[in-house]
Order: sequence, then structure tokens, then C-alpha cells
Amino acid sequence: MKIAVVGGGINGLSSAWQLALAGHQVTLFERDKLMQATSAASSKLLHGGLRYLEQGEFRLVREALQERRWWLKKAPQLTRRLPILYPIYRHSRRSRWQLKIGLWLYDAFAGKKGIGRHRWLNVAQTLRCSAALKSEQLLGAYLFFDGQMDDQKLGLWMAGQCEKAGVTLCEDSPVLQVKTDGSLLLAQGWQRFDRIINVAGPWSAALLQQSALPATPLDLVRGSHLLLPHISRYGHMLEVPAESRIVFVLPYQGNTLLGTTEVRQQLNEPIVCSAAERDYLLAVYNRYFQPACSAQQVLGEFAGVRPLLSGSDAAYKASREYQFAHQGNIITVSGGKWTTARALAKQLVKQL
Ligand SMILES: Cc1cc2nc3c(=O)[nH]c(=O)nc-3n(C[C@H](O)[C@H](O)[C@H](O)COP(=O)(O)OP(=O)(O)OC[C@H]3O[C@@H](n4cnc5c(N)ncnc54)[C@H](O)[C@@H]3O)c2cc1C
Repeated sequence: MKIAVVGGGINGLSSAWQLALAGHQVTLFERDKLMQATSAASSKLLHGGLRYLEQGEFRLVREALQERRWWLKKAPQLTRRLPILYPIYRHSRRSRWQLKIGLWLYDAFAGKKGIGRHRWLNVAQTLRCSAALKSEQLLGAYLFFDGQMDDQKLGLWMAGQCEKAGVTLCEDSPVLQVKTDGSLLLAQGWQRFDRIINVAGPWSAALLQQSALPATPLDLVRGSHLLLPHISRYGHMLEVPAESRIVFVLPYQGNTLLGTTEVRQQLNEPIVCSAAERDYLLAVYNRYFQPACSAQQVLGEFAGVRPLLSGSDAAYKASREYQFAHQGNIITVSGGKWTTARALAKQLVKQL
């Protein structure tokens, strides 16, 4: 079949690759440059998502853990295994035993594709791994493992796989409209395909709307990150005081990556880290680490918008699952995570 893929983020590229491997003739249209949007503004984790176990997303976590291993194995030059600490204080929201059960499940779901089993560290061992962590009321930490990547470069590696599989990649090619018969409008005029795969991330519903087609709205949630000076070679998963959310403090390219926030937003708003988000992230950081970090020490910041499936009152509870909607010859892909992009693409091939 002659297939058009709309969107050059990780989900579009992975879809194009899998469709080409399945023998289809694939052209991908990206309105800007490949890997410039959400897929380059992630927390850079190839992970199952330990916290999604709390929401009962067992299928997703199991799949993401299998995919985590695949990325680490296939692109070792752009990925690595990252040790992460989950420190537990007397005032922590989750008890040591709750965490133990979660991590036991996490290891069990990874099964033979695991990348190291979790273990408990006492206070002295925890502080040896992360000397900047505050020690008052610290009970210890769980050490577990996930993957870390350079998201933009890994996505461009996937673009390379697409080219090898025969995909035609078109940058600076916005798709202006789509029709259910498989036609698609570019600046040069209409082109006809057997199928259109709409993988435009946060903009997938907007593309349908501007084509006068019914669209299920997405839950658009901005996430911001700050870059701070280096503190440890271990990652940290930290509870946000008085909230169920967590933030990550991760070593990244010689610095520290601190994120993320969850702020609902509209597509016409700028995708940038607000002053309030900066203050929020620094407050969480300063709750756990000393010396404190001030706004003047922030080395950089970036933000992206998660295209989540709608239906949750709180953004942190929204599902990270993906789904497919069929309208004639158009398939719209919604939701998903970076880590599960290849699994999503394989499901898409089955849907066809
Ligand atoms: C703050 C944050 C942190 C995250 N952290 C992680 C993490 O650590 N690990 C993880 O697994 N997942 C993470 N995610 C989730 C993950 O980043 C996203 O699920 C994933 O990147 C979405 O990819 P996508 O290809 O669907 O969207 P995008 O990367 O946004 O790609 C969509 C593309 O479509 C293009 N486009 C839009 N409209 C058109 C049009 N009309 N014509 C042509 N092209 C068009 C856009 O320009 C864009 O390039 C995070 C998300 C956020 C926001």
C-alpha cells in the first residue's frame, strides 16, 4: 500500500519504519524539521514508568520495560543504563514497603529483559551515592535502574533506520488537510494515498479539525525541565511534598536535569517554561538537596506538550496508553510514550 505518515516525532518515525519493514511504500511529512517537538523535550528516560504501577497501568509498564531493553541494545551509543535512587524520609508519602512491592513488580515485569534488580541502601550508602541529598530524617533509599537517552539524536537514528528501509522523509512539508479517501493537501496541492497515518502528536486533533473531520480532543499537558549544575552520577526520583506527583533529578550530559511539571495548556499558547514552573521545580529541588540552587544558577530550560488521552481530572493520573481511531482511510494515533514508540508502531501495522 502507498502510505502517508503525518508527523516526524518518534511515533511518526517509528510508524514509518515499521510500515516500510512490512512492505509498504511510505512517505513521511513533517511540517518543520524531524525530532524538534515533544520528542526532543522529554525527560530522556527509557523507562517502564514505576509510578504508572500506582495507576494500575500494568500492560503499559510491562510493554515499556521490554521496549526499554530494545533501545538500550540497538543503540548503545545513544543510550545507557542509569542507576536511580528513590530516597525515603520519615515524612515520605509512600512507605518503604509500598515501594518494595512496586519495585518487585517492576523487576518481575521486566523479566529476562531486566537491566538490574532493585535493592535497599541504608543512609550511609545512600549518601555515598548522592552526597548532596539532605540527611535529616532520611531512612535510606531504593536503588533501581532505568534507561537514559539523548532523545533527539536517538530519534534521528530512527530516521536513519527509516531511510534504510526505503521511507521517503519530507521535512518543511506541512499537511494542510486530509480527506477520508486518503487524499492529503500540501502547499503544492493534493496527493492521493491508500492510507494516511496521522501521528502529529499534540497537533493530531487540530489536523482533523482543520480538515472539517470529527476529532476526539486530547488532554494537552505542558512539561518543563531545568538544567542545573552537576551533583551526582545517580538519578533521583523524588516525591513532591503534599502532592502525589514525582519529579526527576537526573545526571545529563555533565549537568543535572530537573523535571517535570504538569500544566494544562492550549495549542495556541507558547510552549515555554513559565516563571511559576521554574519556582516550583527549584522549590522541590531545594527541599531535597543542599546547597540550595537559585534561579541564577539555572543553566537552561525547555518545555514540551504531552498529547495524553483525555478523561482524567488530574494530569498526573492521565493514562500514558496509546490508541488508534479509524475514519475511512485515515488512522489517527493518540497518546503513547517515547519508550513505547516501536511497540505502538507494531500495533499500527496490525491495525492496517
Ligand atoms: C515533558 C515531557 C517529558 C516526557 N518524558 C518522557 C520520558 O522520559 N520517557 C518517555 O518514554 N516518554 C516521555 N514523554 C512522552 C513522549 O515524549 C511523547 O509521548 C512522544 O515524544 C510523543 O511523540 P510524537 O511523535 O507523538 O509527537 P511529537 O514529537 O510532538 O511529533 C509530532 C510531529 O508532528 C508534526 N506536525 C504537527 N502537525 C503537522 C502537520 N499538519 N503536518 C506535518 N507535520 C505536523 C510536528 O511538527 C511534530 O514534529 C515526555 C513528554 C513530555 C512532554
